[in-house]
Amino acid sequence: MRQFVLCITIFCLLCTYTRINAATTVDSLVGCLRSKGVLNYTTSGSPFYSTALDFSMQNLRFTEAGVPKPAVIILPSTAQEVQKAWTCMLRGGWALRVRNGGHSYEGLSSSASAPFAIIDLINMHKITVNVQKKTAWIEAGVRIGELYHAIASQSSNRLGFPAGTCSTVGMSGQIMGGGYGMLSRKYGVAADRVLQAQVIDGNGKLIKRVSTSNPDLFWALRGGGGGAWGIVVAWKLKLVDLPETITTFSLWKTGKQVITDLVYKWQTIAPKAPPELFIAIYMAGISYTGSPDMGASFYGQYWGTINETLALLNKIYPELGLSESDCKQGNWMQVDSLVFYVLEISNRMHSSL
Ligand SMILES: Cc1cc2nc3c(=O)[nH]c(=O)nc-3n(C[C@H](O)[C@H](O)[C@H](O)COP(=O)(O)OP(=O)(O)OC[C@H]3O[C@@H](n4cnc5c(N)ncnc54)[C@H](O)[C@@H]3O)c2cc1C
Repeated sequence: MRQFVLCITIFCLLCTYTRINAATTVDSLVGCLRSKGVLNYTTSGSPFYSTALDFSMQNLRFTEAGVPKPAVIILPSTAQEVQKAWTCMLRGGWALRVRNGGHSYEGLSSSASAPFAIIDLINMHKITVNVQKKTAWIEAGVRIGELYHAIASQSSNRLGFPAGTCSTVGMSGQIMGGGYGMLSRKYGVAADRVLQAQVIDGNGKLIKRVSTSNPDLFWALRGGGGGAWGIVVAWKLKLVDLPETITTFSLWKTGKQVITDLVYKWQTIAPKAPPELFIAIYMAGISYTGSPDMGASFYGQYWGTINETLALLNKIYPELGLSESDCKQGNWMQVDSLVFYVLEISNRMHSSL
């Protein structure tokens, strides 16, 4: 019995030693990566490290000196490389952070309290659109703007996908948290349109068909938050039909009371408004606008011509005061290309500074 306890104790000590030793040795992780042919990585102190770390970091608080940084950033190009990288990290006891667009408000893709490495999916952005079947396979590093552009250009602007309005947000992070945007009143959120996913699980196994056959995992991936259920390496998406003509509009309003009244009115009419109409409100505080009162951008779209849009809005929402000069008419990419929103909003903000 005594011998047995001793053996167990020695075994545990060895395990702890191996774990700590490996976890704190960047060389061992790098050695493992190299032995498996994963060569695209950068380590703390290397010339490319800061560029790789900061490129996708949207919340600059996580670039500050006191925030823990990854020992290694791995930039795989294939699902197999992701699998190999994760296997090496598992062996060394490293914490993992997976990064797609890097827009996590909480820095969940770029920081951790234990020694960690980032698997950054920036090199995995292949998109295969099947126009006939209205589906697309995307690699997990694809961002919203790339996806919209690929679908629109391959379907002559007749197909789209309901996701967010910021072109640099990652599709993976977005889908796993929902994904709300211009088409969501009509078609729901991005997570609603996922048909299948390919996932590397916690043991490093690639599961090629996560769908109704793995209902719990499939359910968790579509809204349960990113970074918790495995590493998604690809998504199969169901695309949606778009009309030939869409009108986009954007108005800048100032004054706390004006904005309050407009928001209140929108809340009363929105439930009955046609789902082809979408309006978002981008609030800007006093310090942001530089003006003595708050400002807000009311922007949105309607499936129709400018005249049809004006007729609808002047009937159900005349308080908004929409005029022809606030509108642009065209196809999905022309008017919905995120450039319109982003530029219009920032122009209005800057002109009010
Ligand atoms: C400027 C800005 C604009 C935004 N606009 C919108 C919008 O219009 N609509 C909307 O709904 N939301 C919007 N968001 C919120 C955004 O959708 C979420 O923050 C989303 O999680 C970001 O995804 P990401 O891939 O860019 O971020 P990341 O930080 O890369 O990832 C977010 C989380 O998902 C995990 N993750 C990423 N990829 C994978 C993967 N392949 N496998 C497993 N886990 C993964 C990460 O580890 C992290 O926990 C916006 C955010 C910002 C900062």
